[in-house]
Amino acid sequence: MKLSKSFIKTLREAPKDETAKNGALLVRAGYIHKEMAGVYDYLPLGLKVIENIKSIIREELNKLGCEEISMTALQNPEPWEKTGRFSDSEVDIWFKTELNSGGILGLAPTHEEPITNMLKSYISSYKDLPFSVYQFQTKFRNELRAKSGILRGREFLMKDLYSFHTSEKDLDDFYAKVETAYQNIFKYLGIGDITFETFASGGIFSKYSHEFQTLLPVGEDTIYYNNDKSLVFNKEVFEDEVLDEFGVKKEDFVETTGAEVGNIFKLKFKYSEPLGLNFVDNDNETKTVYMGCYGIGVSRLMGVIAENFADEKGLIWPESITPYKYYLVGIGEEGSKKADQLYSEHEDLIIFDDRDLRIGEKFADSELMGIPYRIVVSDKTLASNSAELTSRATGETKIITLDDLAHLLARK
Ligand code: ATP
Ligand code: MG
Repeated sequence: MKLSKSFIKTLREAPKDETAKNGALLVRAGYIHKEMAGVYDYLPLGLKVIENIKSIIREELNKLGCEEISMTALQNPEPWEKTGRFSDSEVDIWFKTELNSGGILGLAPTHEEPITNMLKSYISSYKDLPFSVYQFQTKFRNELRAKSGILRGREFLMKDLYSFHTSEKDLDDFYAKVETAYQNIFKYLGIGDITFETFASGGIFSKYSHEFQTLLPVGEDTIYYNNDKSLVFNKEVFEDEVLDEFGVKKEDFVETTGAEVGNIFKLKFKYSEPLGLNFVDNDNETKTVYMGCYGIGVSRLMGVIAENFADEKGLIWPESITPYKYYLVGIGEEGSKKADQLYSEHEDLIIFDDRDLRIGEKFADSELMGIPYRIVVSDKTLASNSAELTSRATGETKIITLDDLAHLLARK
């Protein structure tokens, strides 16, 4: 990206109503634009971060054999009425809209009903099972409070995965694989050490579900962890009866706050039964399909990571999801020429700050944008065949030879 050619601009001030740190920083750094409370546009840099998060998730899910689809946001009320979830008293966050030709549609807050309903066209025999499908899809939720930047949107990006099985054992096995995949995903996103699988309530078909909670001071959830963080409970299940079952006591736990970045759920027959998703088993009997669902808040994750790694100068992206790895500045005539050449050879890795601005402003923007490494080539560094490389995370600058820089850039 060449900054002189891009429309994005960093801002000195965040919008007045943007009180969340993640929202304020991401707006100021030119990653997102705020339309209204809980509704944001993703600009070129923000979109790259989202795509990088998606790639990490996609790779892990594809390894499990999950297939990617994309379902509609507009919802026919019918399947939702069968589970009772179209009613505003059951689900209080619906956005609904009217058809000109008459009738009401919903904007999907999640997709259990439509996917269960859709798959009736594709599942009839045990031979059709098991399988799993996922999507990255925009969800709409009329959230009462939307003051947490992109941590809680009224329109937001979710990855939702659904799995379909002939037996409880098969569902349990797949669920365990997703647990491991999620741990890998959060590790690759750079938040593995602060993200914990947390016991949550399960509903009628399963005693517990699991949330993935990232420790975060502004997180909206209250969670409890023990000494070595091997057991984490959310508020719903942190009670004596549950703790007895695990052989632990309330005093062994510390209360803290987390942001729920994902959750996994053994649905069993919760949706397949009311919607009639059945299969004929090898004993010729008609049975109900076992289901699991597994969510990740993709846009929330971007906010959690932005919020968690920031300092007083701005964002600090983990290398795995940064929009670009290097922020390049040329100083002086020869320095600028060399910078231009480096950029043209590695456009996909570099933000080239070729704007007609003071060096101090360029450095401040490189820090605000949180790009992991800043490269400076000047007439002076070129005189010794070198460049300066500064780490955003540590602030350390080292001199590297142009040869070493070429190797670094070639490594990707
Ligand atoms: P929360 O308790 O935070 O409202 P939820 O239990 O309603 O979350 P799910 O319906 O299970 O969440 O959605 C799956 C994931 O989508 C959540 O784990 C979270 O990461 C993300 N998510 C949920 N609501 C929002 C929102 N309003 N904005 C951004 N991400 C969200
Ligand atoms: Mg919610």
